Formats: sequence, C-alpha cells, structure tokens
Amino acid sequence: MIFVLTKLNKITRVYLLLIFLLIGCSEQQTSAHYPFLYSSGIMGTSFTIKVTHLPKTIKVKLLKVKIKQLLDNINAQLSTYEPKSALSLFNQNQSSDWQTVPDSLLTVLTETQRISKLTNGAFDITVGKIVNLWGFGVDPMSFTIPKTSNLEKALTTTGYQHLLIDNLSFKIKKQLPELYLDLSAIAKGYAVDQVALLLEADGINNYMVEIGGEIRLKGQNNLGKAWKIAIEKPTPKKRAIQKVIPISNIAIATSGNYRNFFELKGIRYSHTIDPRTGQPITHQLASVTILNASAMTADALATAMMVLGEDKGYQLAQQHNIAALFIIKTADGFIEKSTSAFIEFFKEKS
Ligand code: FAD
Repeated sequence: MIFVLTKLNKITRVYLLLIFLLIGCSEQQTSAHYPFLYSSGIMGTSFTIKVTHLPKTIKVKLLKVKIKQLLDNINAQLSTYEPKSALSLFNQNQSSDWQTVPDSLLTVLTETQRISKLTNGAFDITVGKIVNLWGFGVDPMSFTIPKTSNLEKALTTTGYQHLLIDNLSFKIKKQLPELYLDLSAIAKGYAVDQVALLLEADGINNYMVEIGGEIRLKGQNNLGKAWKIAIEKPTPKKRAIQKVIPISNIAIATSGNYRNFFELKGIRYSHTIDPRTGQPITHQLASVTILNASAMTADALATAMMVLGEDKGYQLAQQHNIAALFIIKTADGFIEKSTSAFIEFFKEKS
C-alpha cells in the first residue's frame, strides 16, 4: 500500500505555521495590524513577510517589488528546478575546470561545506542525484524504491569533499564530472536571511520573514510582544501543535520525516537521505527544530540532525552548543529532547 502525501506538503505546513503564528489575534485582524503583509509563492513553496512598524519613507508597493526581485534572483541562481540557474549550469557541466559563480551560490556553498565538515558528512548537498532517484527532487515522484545498481552508481558520484571552492576568485570546481548539487536543505534559509537584510537596510526592525517554513524574526509582533511560533506535532495525518514558543531576534528552522515521504508495504521512505548509504533515514527521530542567528545555518543544521538521528545528533548539537529541539517518536507518543543551548535561549528571556 502506498501512503502518499503531496510532494509539496511543505506548503501545507507553512500555512499551518502561519495560522499557528499565535500573535494574539485572529488571522483577519492580522492584516489590519500589519502595515506590511506580503504572501506569495517561490521555490515551489510559499512565503510570508509581516512588518509591525513601517518607516514613513517606505512605500509598500516598492518594498514588495524589491522583495520579489530578490527572491526571483535567488531562485534563478540556486534552483535545481530551473535548468538555466547558475546551480543547474554547474551541475550540467562535467568539466573539472574552475568556474566563476554568483556571490549567492558561493556564499551558500561555503556554508554547506562548513556544515558538512561539522556533521562528518551527514549534511551533504552532493546527494542530489540520489534525492532525484528516490523521487524527492526535480523528477516527478515515482513512489518506488530505486534499483540498487542505480543507487550504487549514484553513490560513486557523491561526496562534498569533491567540490572545491576558491572564495578569493569566486570560483568553484568539481573533482567528479557527475557531481550534482541540491540546495533544497539550505537555500530557503539563505533567502530568508537575504530578505531580512533587505528589510533592515530599509530601517525595518520588527518583522517576521518566513519561506517554506524557515523563519527569521526580529523585534516585536503587533501586540508589542515576542513573536509566538508553533512547532508542529510531527504527525503525518492530522495537524496539531507540539508546542508554542515566544521568540524574537533569531531564526528557526524545522526538518522532519512526516510530510515529504511515501510508504511502501508499511515502510516509510522520507526525503532526508543518509549520504553514507543513499537510503532515506529510518530512525525514530520525527523532527528537529534549530534556533540560530542565521536561517541558512538553521535550515542546514535541521537536515543534518535529521540524518544523524536522536543520539548522534543530540551529542553533536550539545558538543557544538547548537540550540536544538528533538522530537522523537516512541511507542507511547512523541517525546522532546532539548539541548542546553535551546533551554538556555528561553531561560534568558524569562
Ligand atoms: P528540508 O528538510 O529542509 O531538506 C530536505 C531536502 O534536502 C530534501 O528534499 C533533499 O532535496 C535534500 N537532502 C536530503 N538529504 C540531504 C542531506 N543528507 N544533506 C543535504 N541535503 C539533503 N520544489 C518544487 O516542487 N518546485 C520548484 O520549483 C522548486 N524550486 C526550488 C527552488 C529552490 C531555490 C529551492 C531551494 C528549492 C526548490 N524546491 C522546489 C524544493 C522545495 O522548496 C523544498 O526545498 C523541498 O520540498 C524540501 O524542503 P524542506 O524544507 O521540506 O526539506
């Protein structure tokens, strides 16, 4: 029996998160209380930006145009779904020459290499071909288990250590001709950071920026308080809240195995791939939420922790003072495990 959820369940999760953005008022009041409220689609998902105080000099229409242009540019550079994006052109090019790339791609790749090293390769953007084989990438979902021979062949074309970066000359090169990079686990977070920087450059310091569930918050909501973010209970069938956290001046990202997956004969195959085996993760960790100053970093670390699982992920997060909330599935329901840095973050605020 194949139990399939739509591919872009992230959108549903995003709308859920928006409904649950408990900002002390119902959704319809929200627009009345936000001088700037902008929602639309990007990167195969949706985004929402709320600004509590808009400087008099800022024109709403112009700000929307600037944000959309920024997001379209990022999409045009970092998408594997756009065949002419800078990333796709690099993926298609089998040359091992140094290639000049846009600043956005260089910035994101520099961070992906840092996170790959930090997590001993658990986070590895070169799994792109394997992600596609499992049906979680650009090719339509096939809800089937890829042939072992195809997986073994794809595994020979992976390994973050085969991507070289020269930050001084803005160049990158592949040591394996078929290296194929997939930035789905980090580029939305990067885009959130870039929108936040655009708002702050316009003197805006009370905002929520959310793209596909990756969020960055600053200042206060429309009630003059910290923003309230609901973390979803990682249940595939029904929507529910695990917990609501009052936070601000931070970014938050969650990765899980309960939205983007298919089931075959009772086994769940999720979109998070263990780069060492080429197999979707199978442990009981249902979701990980990360707090970090950067949404790009939070986005990548959430996926990395999902790959590492509840024990190794928790140890690494503790060791590196990463603020992480692990939600683990047990026979009696979900249990939470927070790192000291996650607990500390709220202690300071209370
Ligand atoms: P996360 O948990 O944040 O990341 C999981 C994703 O990361 C997997 O789907 C896989 O791609 C990758 N991954 C899996 N294992 C690993 C690993 N070990 N290390 C590193 N990465 C791993 N989707 C569309 O349907 N249409 C589009 O047009 C489209 N355009 C996009 C453009 C951009 C620039 C980006 C970044 C993504 C785009 N997407 C598109 C994909 C979609 O937005 C989501 O990124 C995707 O569904 C996964 O997001 P997530 O946050 O649920 O997954």
